[in-house]
Amino acid sequence: MVIFKRSGALREYLQAKKNAGLTIGFVPTMGALHAGHISLLREAKTQTGFAVASIFVNPTQFNDPKDFEKYPITIESDVKQLLEAGCDALFLPTVKEMYPDGTKATQHYDLGSLETVLEGEFRPGHFQGVCTIVHRLLKAAIPDKLFMGQKDYQQCMVIRRLLQVSGLEDHVALDISPTRREETGLAMSSRNMRLSPEEKEKAIAIYQALQFINKHWREIPLPELKQKAWQLLTAKDLRPDYVAIVDANDLTVVENNDTKQQVVALIAAFMGEVRLIDNLLLT
Ligand code: AMP
Repeated sequence: MVIFKRSGALREYLQAKKNAGLTIGFVPTMGALHAGHISLLREAKTQTGFAVASIFVNPTQFNDPKDFEKYPITIESDVKQLLEAGCDALFLPTVKEMYPDGTKATQHYDLGSLETVLEGEFRPGHFQGVCTIVHRLLKAAIPDKLFMGQKDYQQCMVIRRLLQVSGLEDHVALDISPTRREETGLAMSSRNMRLSPEEKEKAIAIYQALQFINKHWREIPLPELKQKAWQLLTAKDLRPDYVAIVDANDLTVVENNDTKQQVVALIAAFMGEVRLIDNLLLT
C-alpha cells in the first residue's frame, strides 16, 4: 500500500495506473476504521481491482466543534486494517493540503431540499462541508467508482447530487453498500468508540425502534408509529433529534402507510454527548 500526503502526487500516480488500463475504486473515510469501512474497501477491491482509501477528519462538515475535537483517531490500527484488506493506496492529507486557502473560502453547492431536511436541518452547513471535501478528494483520487455506506443514507443522496452538479456524473459511478451492524443490531460507527459499555447497550434501541417501525408501518397510523418509536428511544435515555418516515427517493414525508413508493425510516439520537444515526428501508 502506497501512502500519499499530497493531492498532486496521488493524482499523478493514479493517472499513470488509469493510463495502464486499471479501474480505480475509491473509499473516502474519516478514519477510526471498523468492519463497515473495511466492507466498502473490499467491495472496491472486488469490483475495480484497485482500491484507494482516504482518511481525513474534515473540519468543515462538523457543525459542533466539540464533536470535531473528540472525533476518534486510530491511525495505526487503520493502516493495519487497510493493509489486511488489500488496499492499494491510502491518501492521508493534512488540513492545509485540502484547504490551502483556509476553511472559510469554499464553493457553494446547490443541494436543493436535501440540505434543509433531517441531517440538513439539525446540522446546518454539514452537507456543504461534505460536498466540499468529497469534491476535492475526487479531484485527487480520480476514481471510476466511489464506494459509500447506506448507514449515511442522506449523505449518499447528497453525493449523488454532487456528482450531478459538478459534472462528474458520467465519470464516477456511485456504489452503495449495506450497513454493517454489531451482533446486537447497533450500526457500526466510529463514534461508537466514544460510548461506555452501558451506553452502547442502550443505543441498541435505535435499531430496535427502526425494526419496530418496519414491522408495524402498514397497520399503525404513521404519526402514532413515530411517537411509539420515539418512546422506545427515550425509554433507553436516547434523546432523538428526529424519527422520520420518508420517501426513499426524495426524503419527503410519507403520510399514508399504503403507499407503493419505497419508504425509508431514519433516526438521529444522542446517547450522552454522542450523536448517532441509523436507517432502514421498509419492507
Ligand atoms: P465515515 O468515516 O464515518 O465518514 O464513513 C466513511 C464511509 O463509510 C461512508 O461512506 C459511510 O457511509 C461508510 N460507513 C460508515 N459506517 C458504516 C457501516 N456501519 N456500514 C457500512 N458503511 C459504513
